[in-house]
Amino acid sequence: MALITKKIKGTEDVLPKQSYRWQFVENIMREESRAYGFREIRTPVFEHTELFARGVGQTTDVVQKEMYTFDTKGGESVTLRPEGTAGAARAVLEHALENEGLPIKASYFVSCYRYEKPQAGRLREFHQFGIEEYGTQSPVADAEIICLAQSVLDRLGLTDVHLEINSIGCPECRAKYNQALREYFTQYREQLCDTCLSRLEKNPMRLLDCKSPEDHKIAEGAPKIIDYLCEECENHFAEVQRYLESAGVSFTVNPTIVRGLDYYTKTVFEFVTDCIGAQGTVCGGGRYDGLIEELGGKHLPSLGFAMGLERILMVMDAQGVAIPQPEPCALYIATMGDAAKVKAFSLLRQVRECGLTAETDVVGRGLRAQMKYADKIGAKYSVVLGDNEFAENKAKVKNMDSGEQTELALDDSFAEKFSVLNLTGNDAFAI
Ligand code: ATP
Ligand code: MG
Repeated sequence: MALITKKIKGTEDVLPKQSYRWQFVENIMREESRAYGFREIRTPVFEHTELFARGVGQTTDVVQKEMYTFDTKGGESVTLRPEGTAGAARAVLEHALENEGLPIKASYFVSCYRYEKPQAGRLREFHQFGIEEYGTQSPVADAEIICLAQSVLDRLGLTDVHLEINSIGCPECRAKYNQALREYFTQYREQLCDTCLSRLEKNPMRLLDCKSPEDHKIAEGAPKIIDYLCEECENHFAEVQRYLESAGVSFTVNPTIVRGLDYYTKTVFEFVTDCIGAQGTVCGGGRYDGLIEELGGKHLPSLGFAMGLERILMVMDAQGVAIPQPEPCALYIATMGDAAKVKAFSLLRQVRECGLTAETDVVGRGLRAQMKYADKIGAKYSVVLGDNEFAENKAKVKNMDSGEQTELALDDSFAEKFSVLNLTGNDAFAI
């Protein structure tokens, strides 16, 4: 029985009294995405396991250790999405969106599932806002999505979040670099963890973001990708920086950023902060020019980022950023007697049609208790409908703060007149 009232480890509930904080953040993300010309894509929460194995990369932590994978009754292996990029890329391919013109620009909100050790800022179900753009090689696009992420963080009122960028080159520069990494790490063979040892041959760059402290130390002295970039990658990286500078976005080049997923090429970036402890990366992204080909499509250079919503909210909390409370109930109609109740029901409907929040008693409280409840929910105005009001077809609407009363007719004009009163405090309609 106890299991029924316990959520699964590493998951969180957002309760009605907290959800306005999420909505505030999501609304800003929606508005900024629109300003940059992105439209929302929605993809399923589960996909064929093969998609993530190919799209995220066989040698990543996500695929090797963190996926929620299960067989369906039909014997198919499916996986709960650990991130949003692979599903979006699959949808682009499946619907041949490149035929509708390039670039393809999509934004998303997704829940993600990773079997990680739960701790502050690290959950098993978490949420991301992300951007995907397909069909552009231009460094302008890299700079543009970075600007978008920066605009979101600025509008949320976050400070002390720093942008760090790097380039991890293309497959050509990477071949030379991987060789240099193999040579470097081979000297430390004895000290490396098992996971790193197994990746040394196939994908030595993964060793650079190993979370074990000993390996991390060794990784600090490793050769830097930036010294191995080919001319094209070097120019691309310089251009990205030029555009960022022109838009007044500050950044530092951090040659150790390689990102946790296999598909990145050229630009990679992270927004990081010190204010929420160890899990300080609130946004990560970059370019993944080989992804669509990896999934069986044509060459379609792409890029994107993902922001962790829980981490963003943690930073807002830590920095004491004020989130505007939602509008409280505009009108509470307290009722006495059956006829008044029915009348209230139709008035409420009209008030709500004006876009206002209006409530009445649905638990059978007496009048005093109804007024106490109106106070508790912070109703701005209240009105009592009893036999008298019903008979005279008018009632006193009371401003709960000032106690001021305005008499309004209980006819078809009520909702509109109440709207004006609520908006302006103007009682010109009073009778
Ligand atoms: P980390 O290095 O923290 O494990 P990552 O490289 O695995 O992050 P991405 O796959 O790039 O993360 O996901 C983008 C963003 O999603 C991260 O920057 C972070 O804000 C958020 N995120 C990733 N994993 C989790 C998690 N387990 N719980 C909460 N948020 C997460
Ligand atoms: Mg991770």
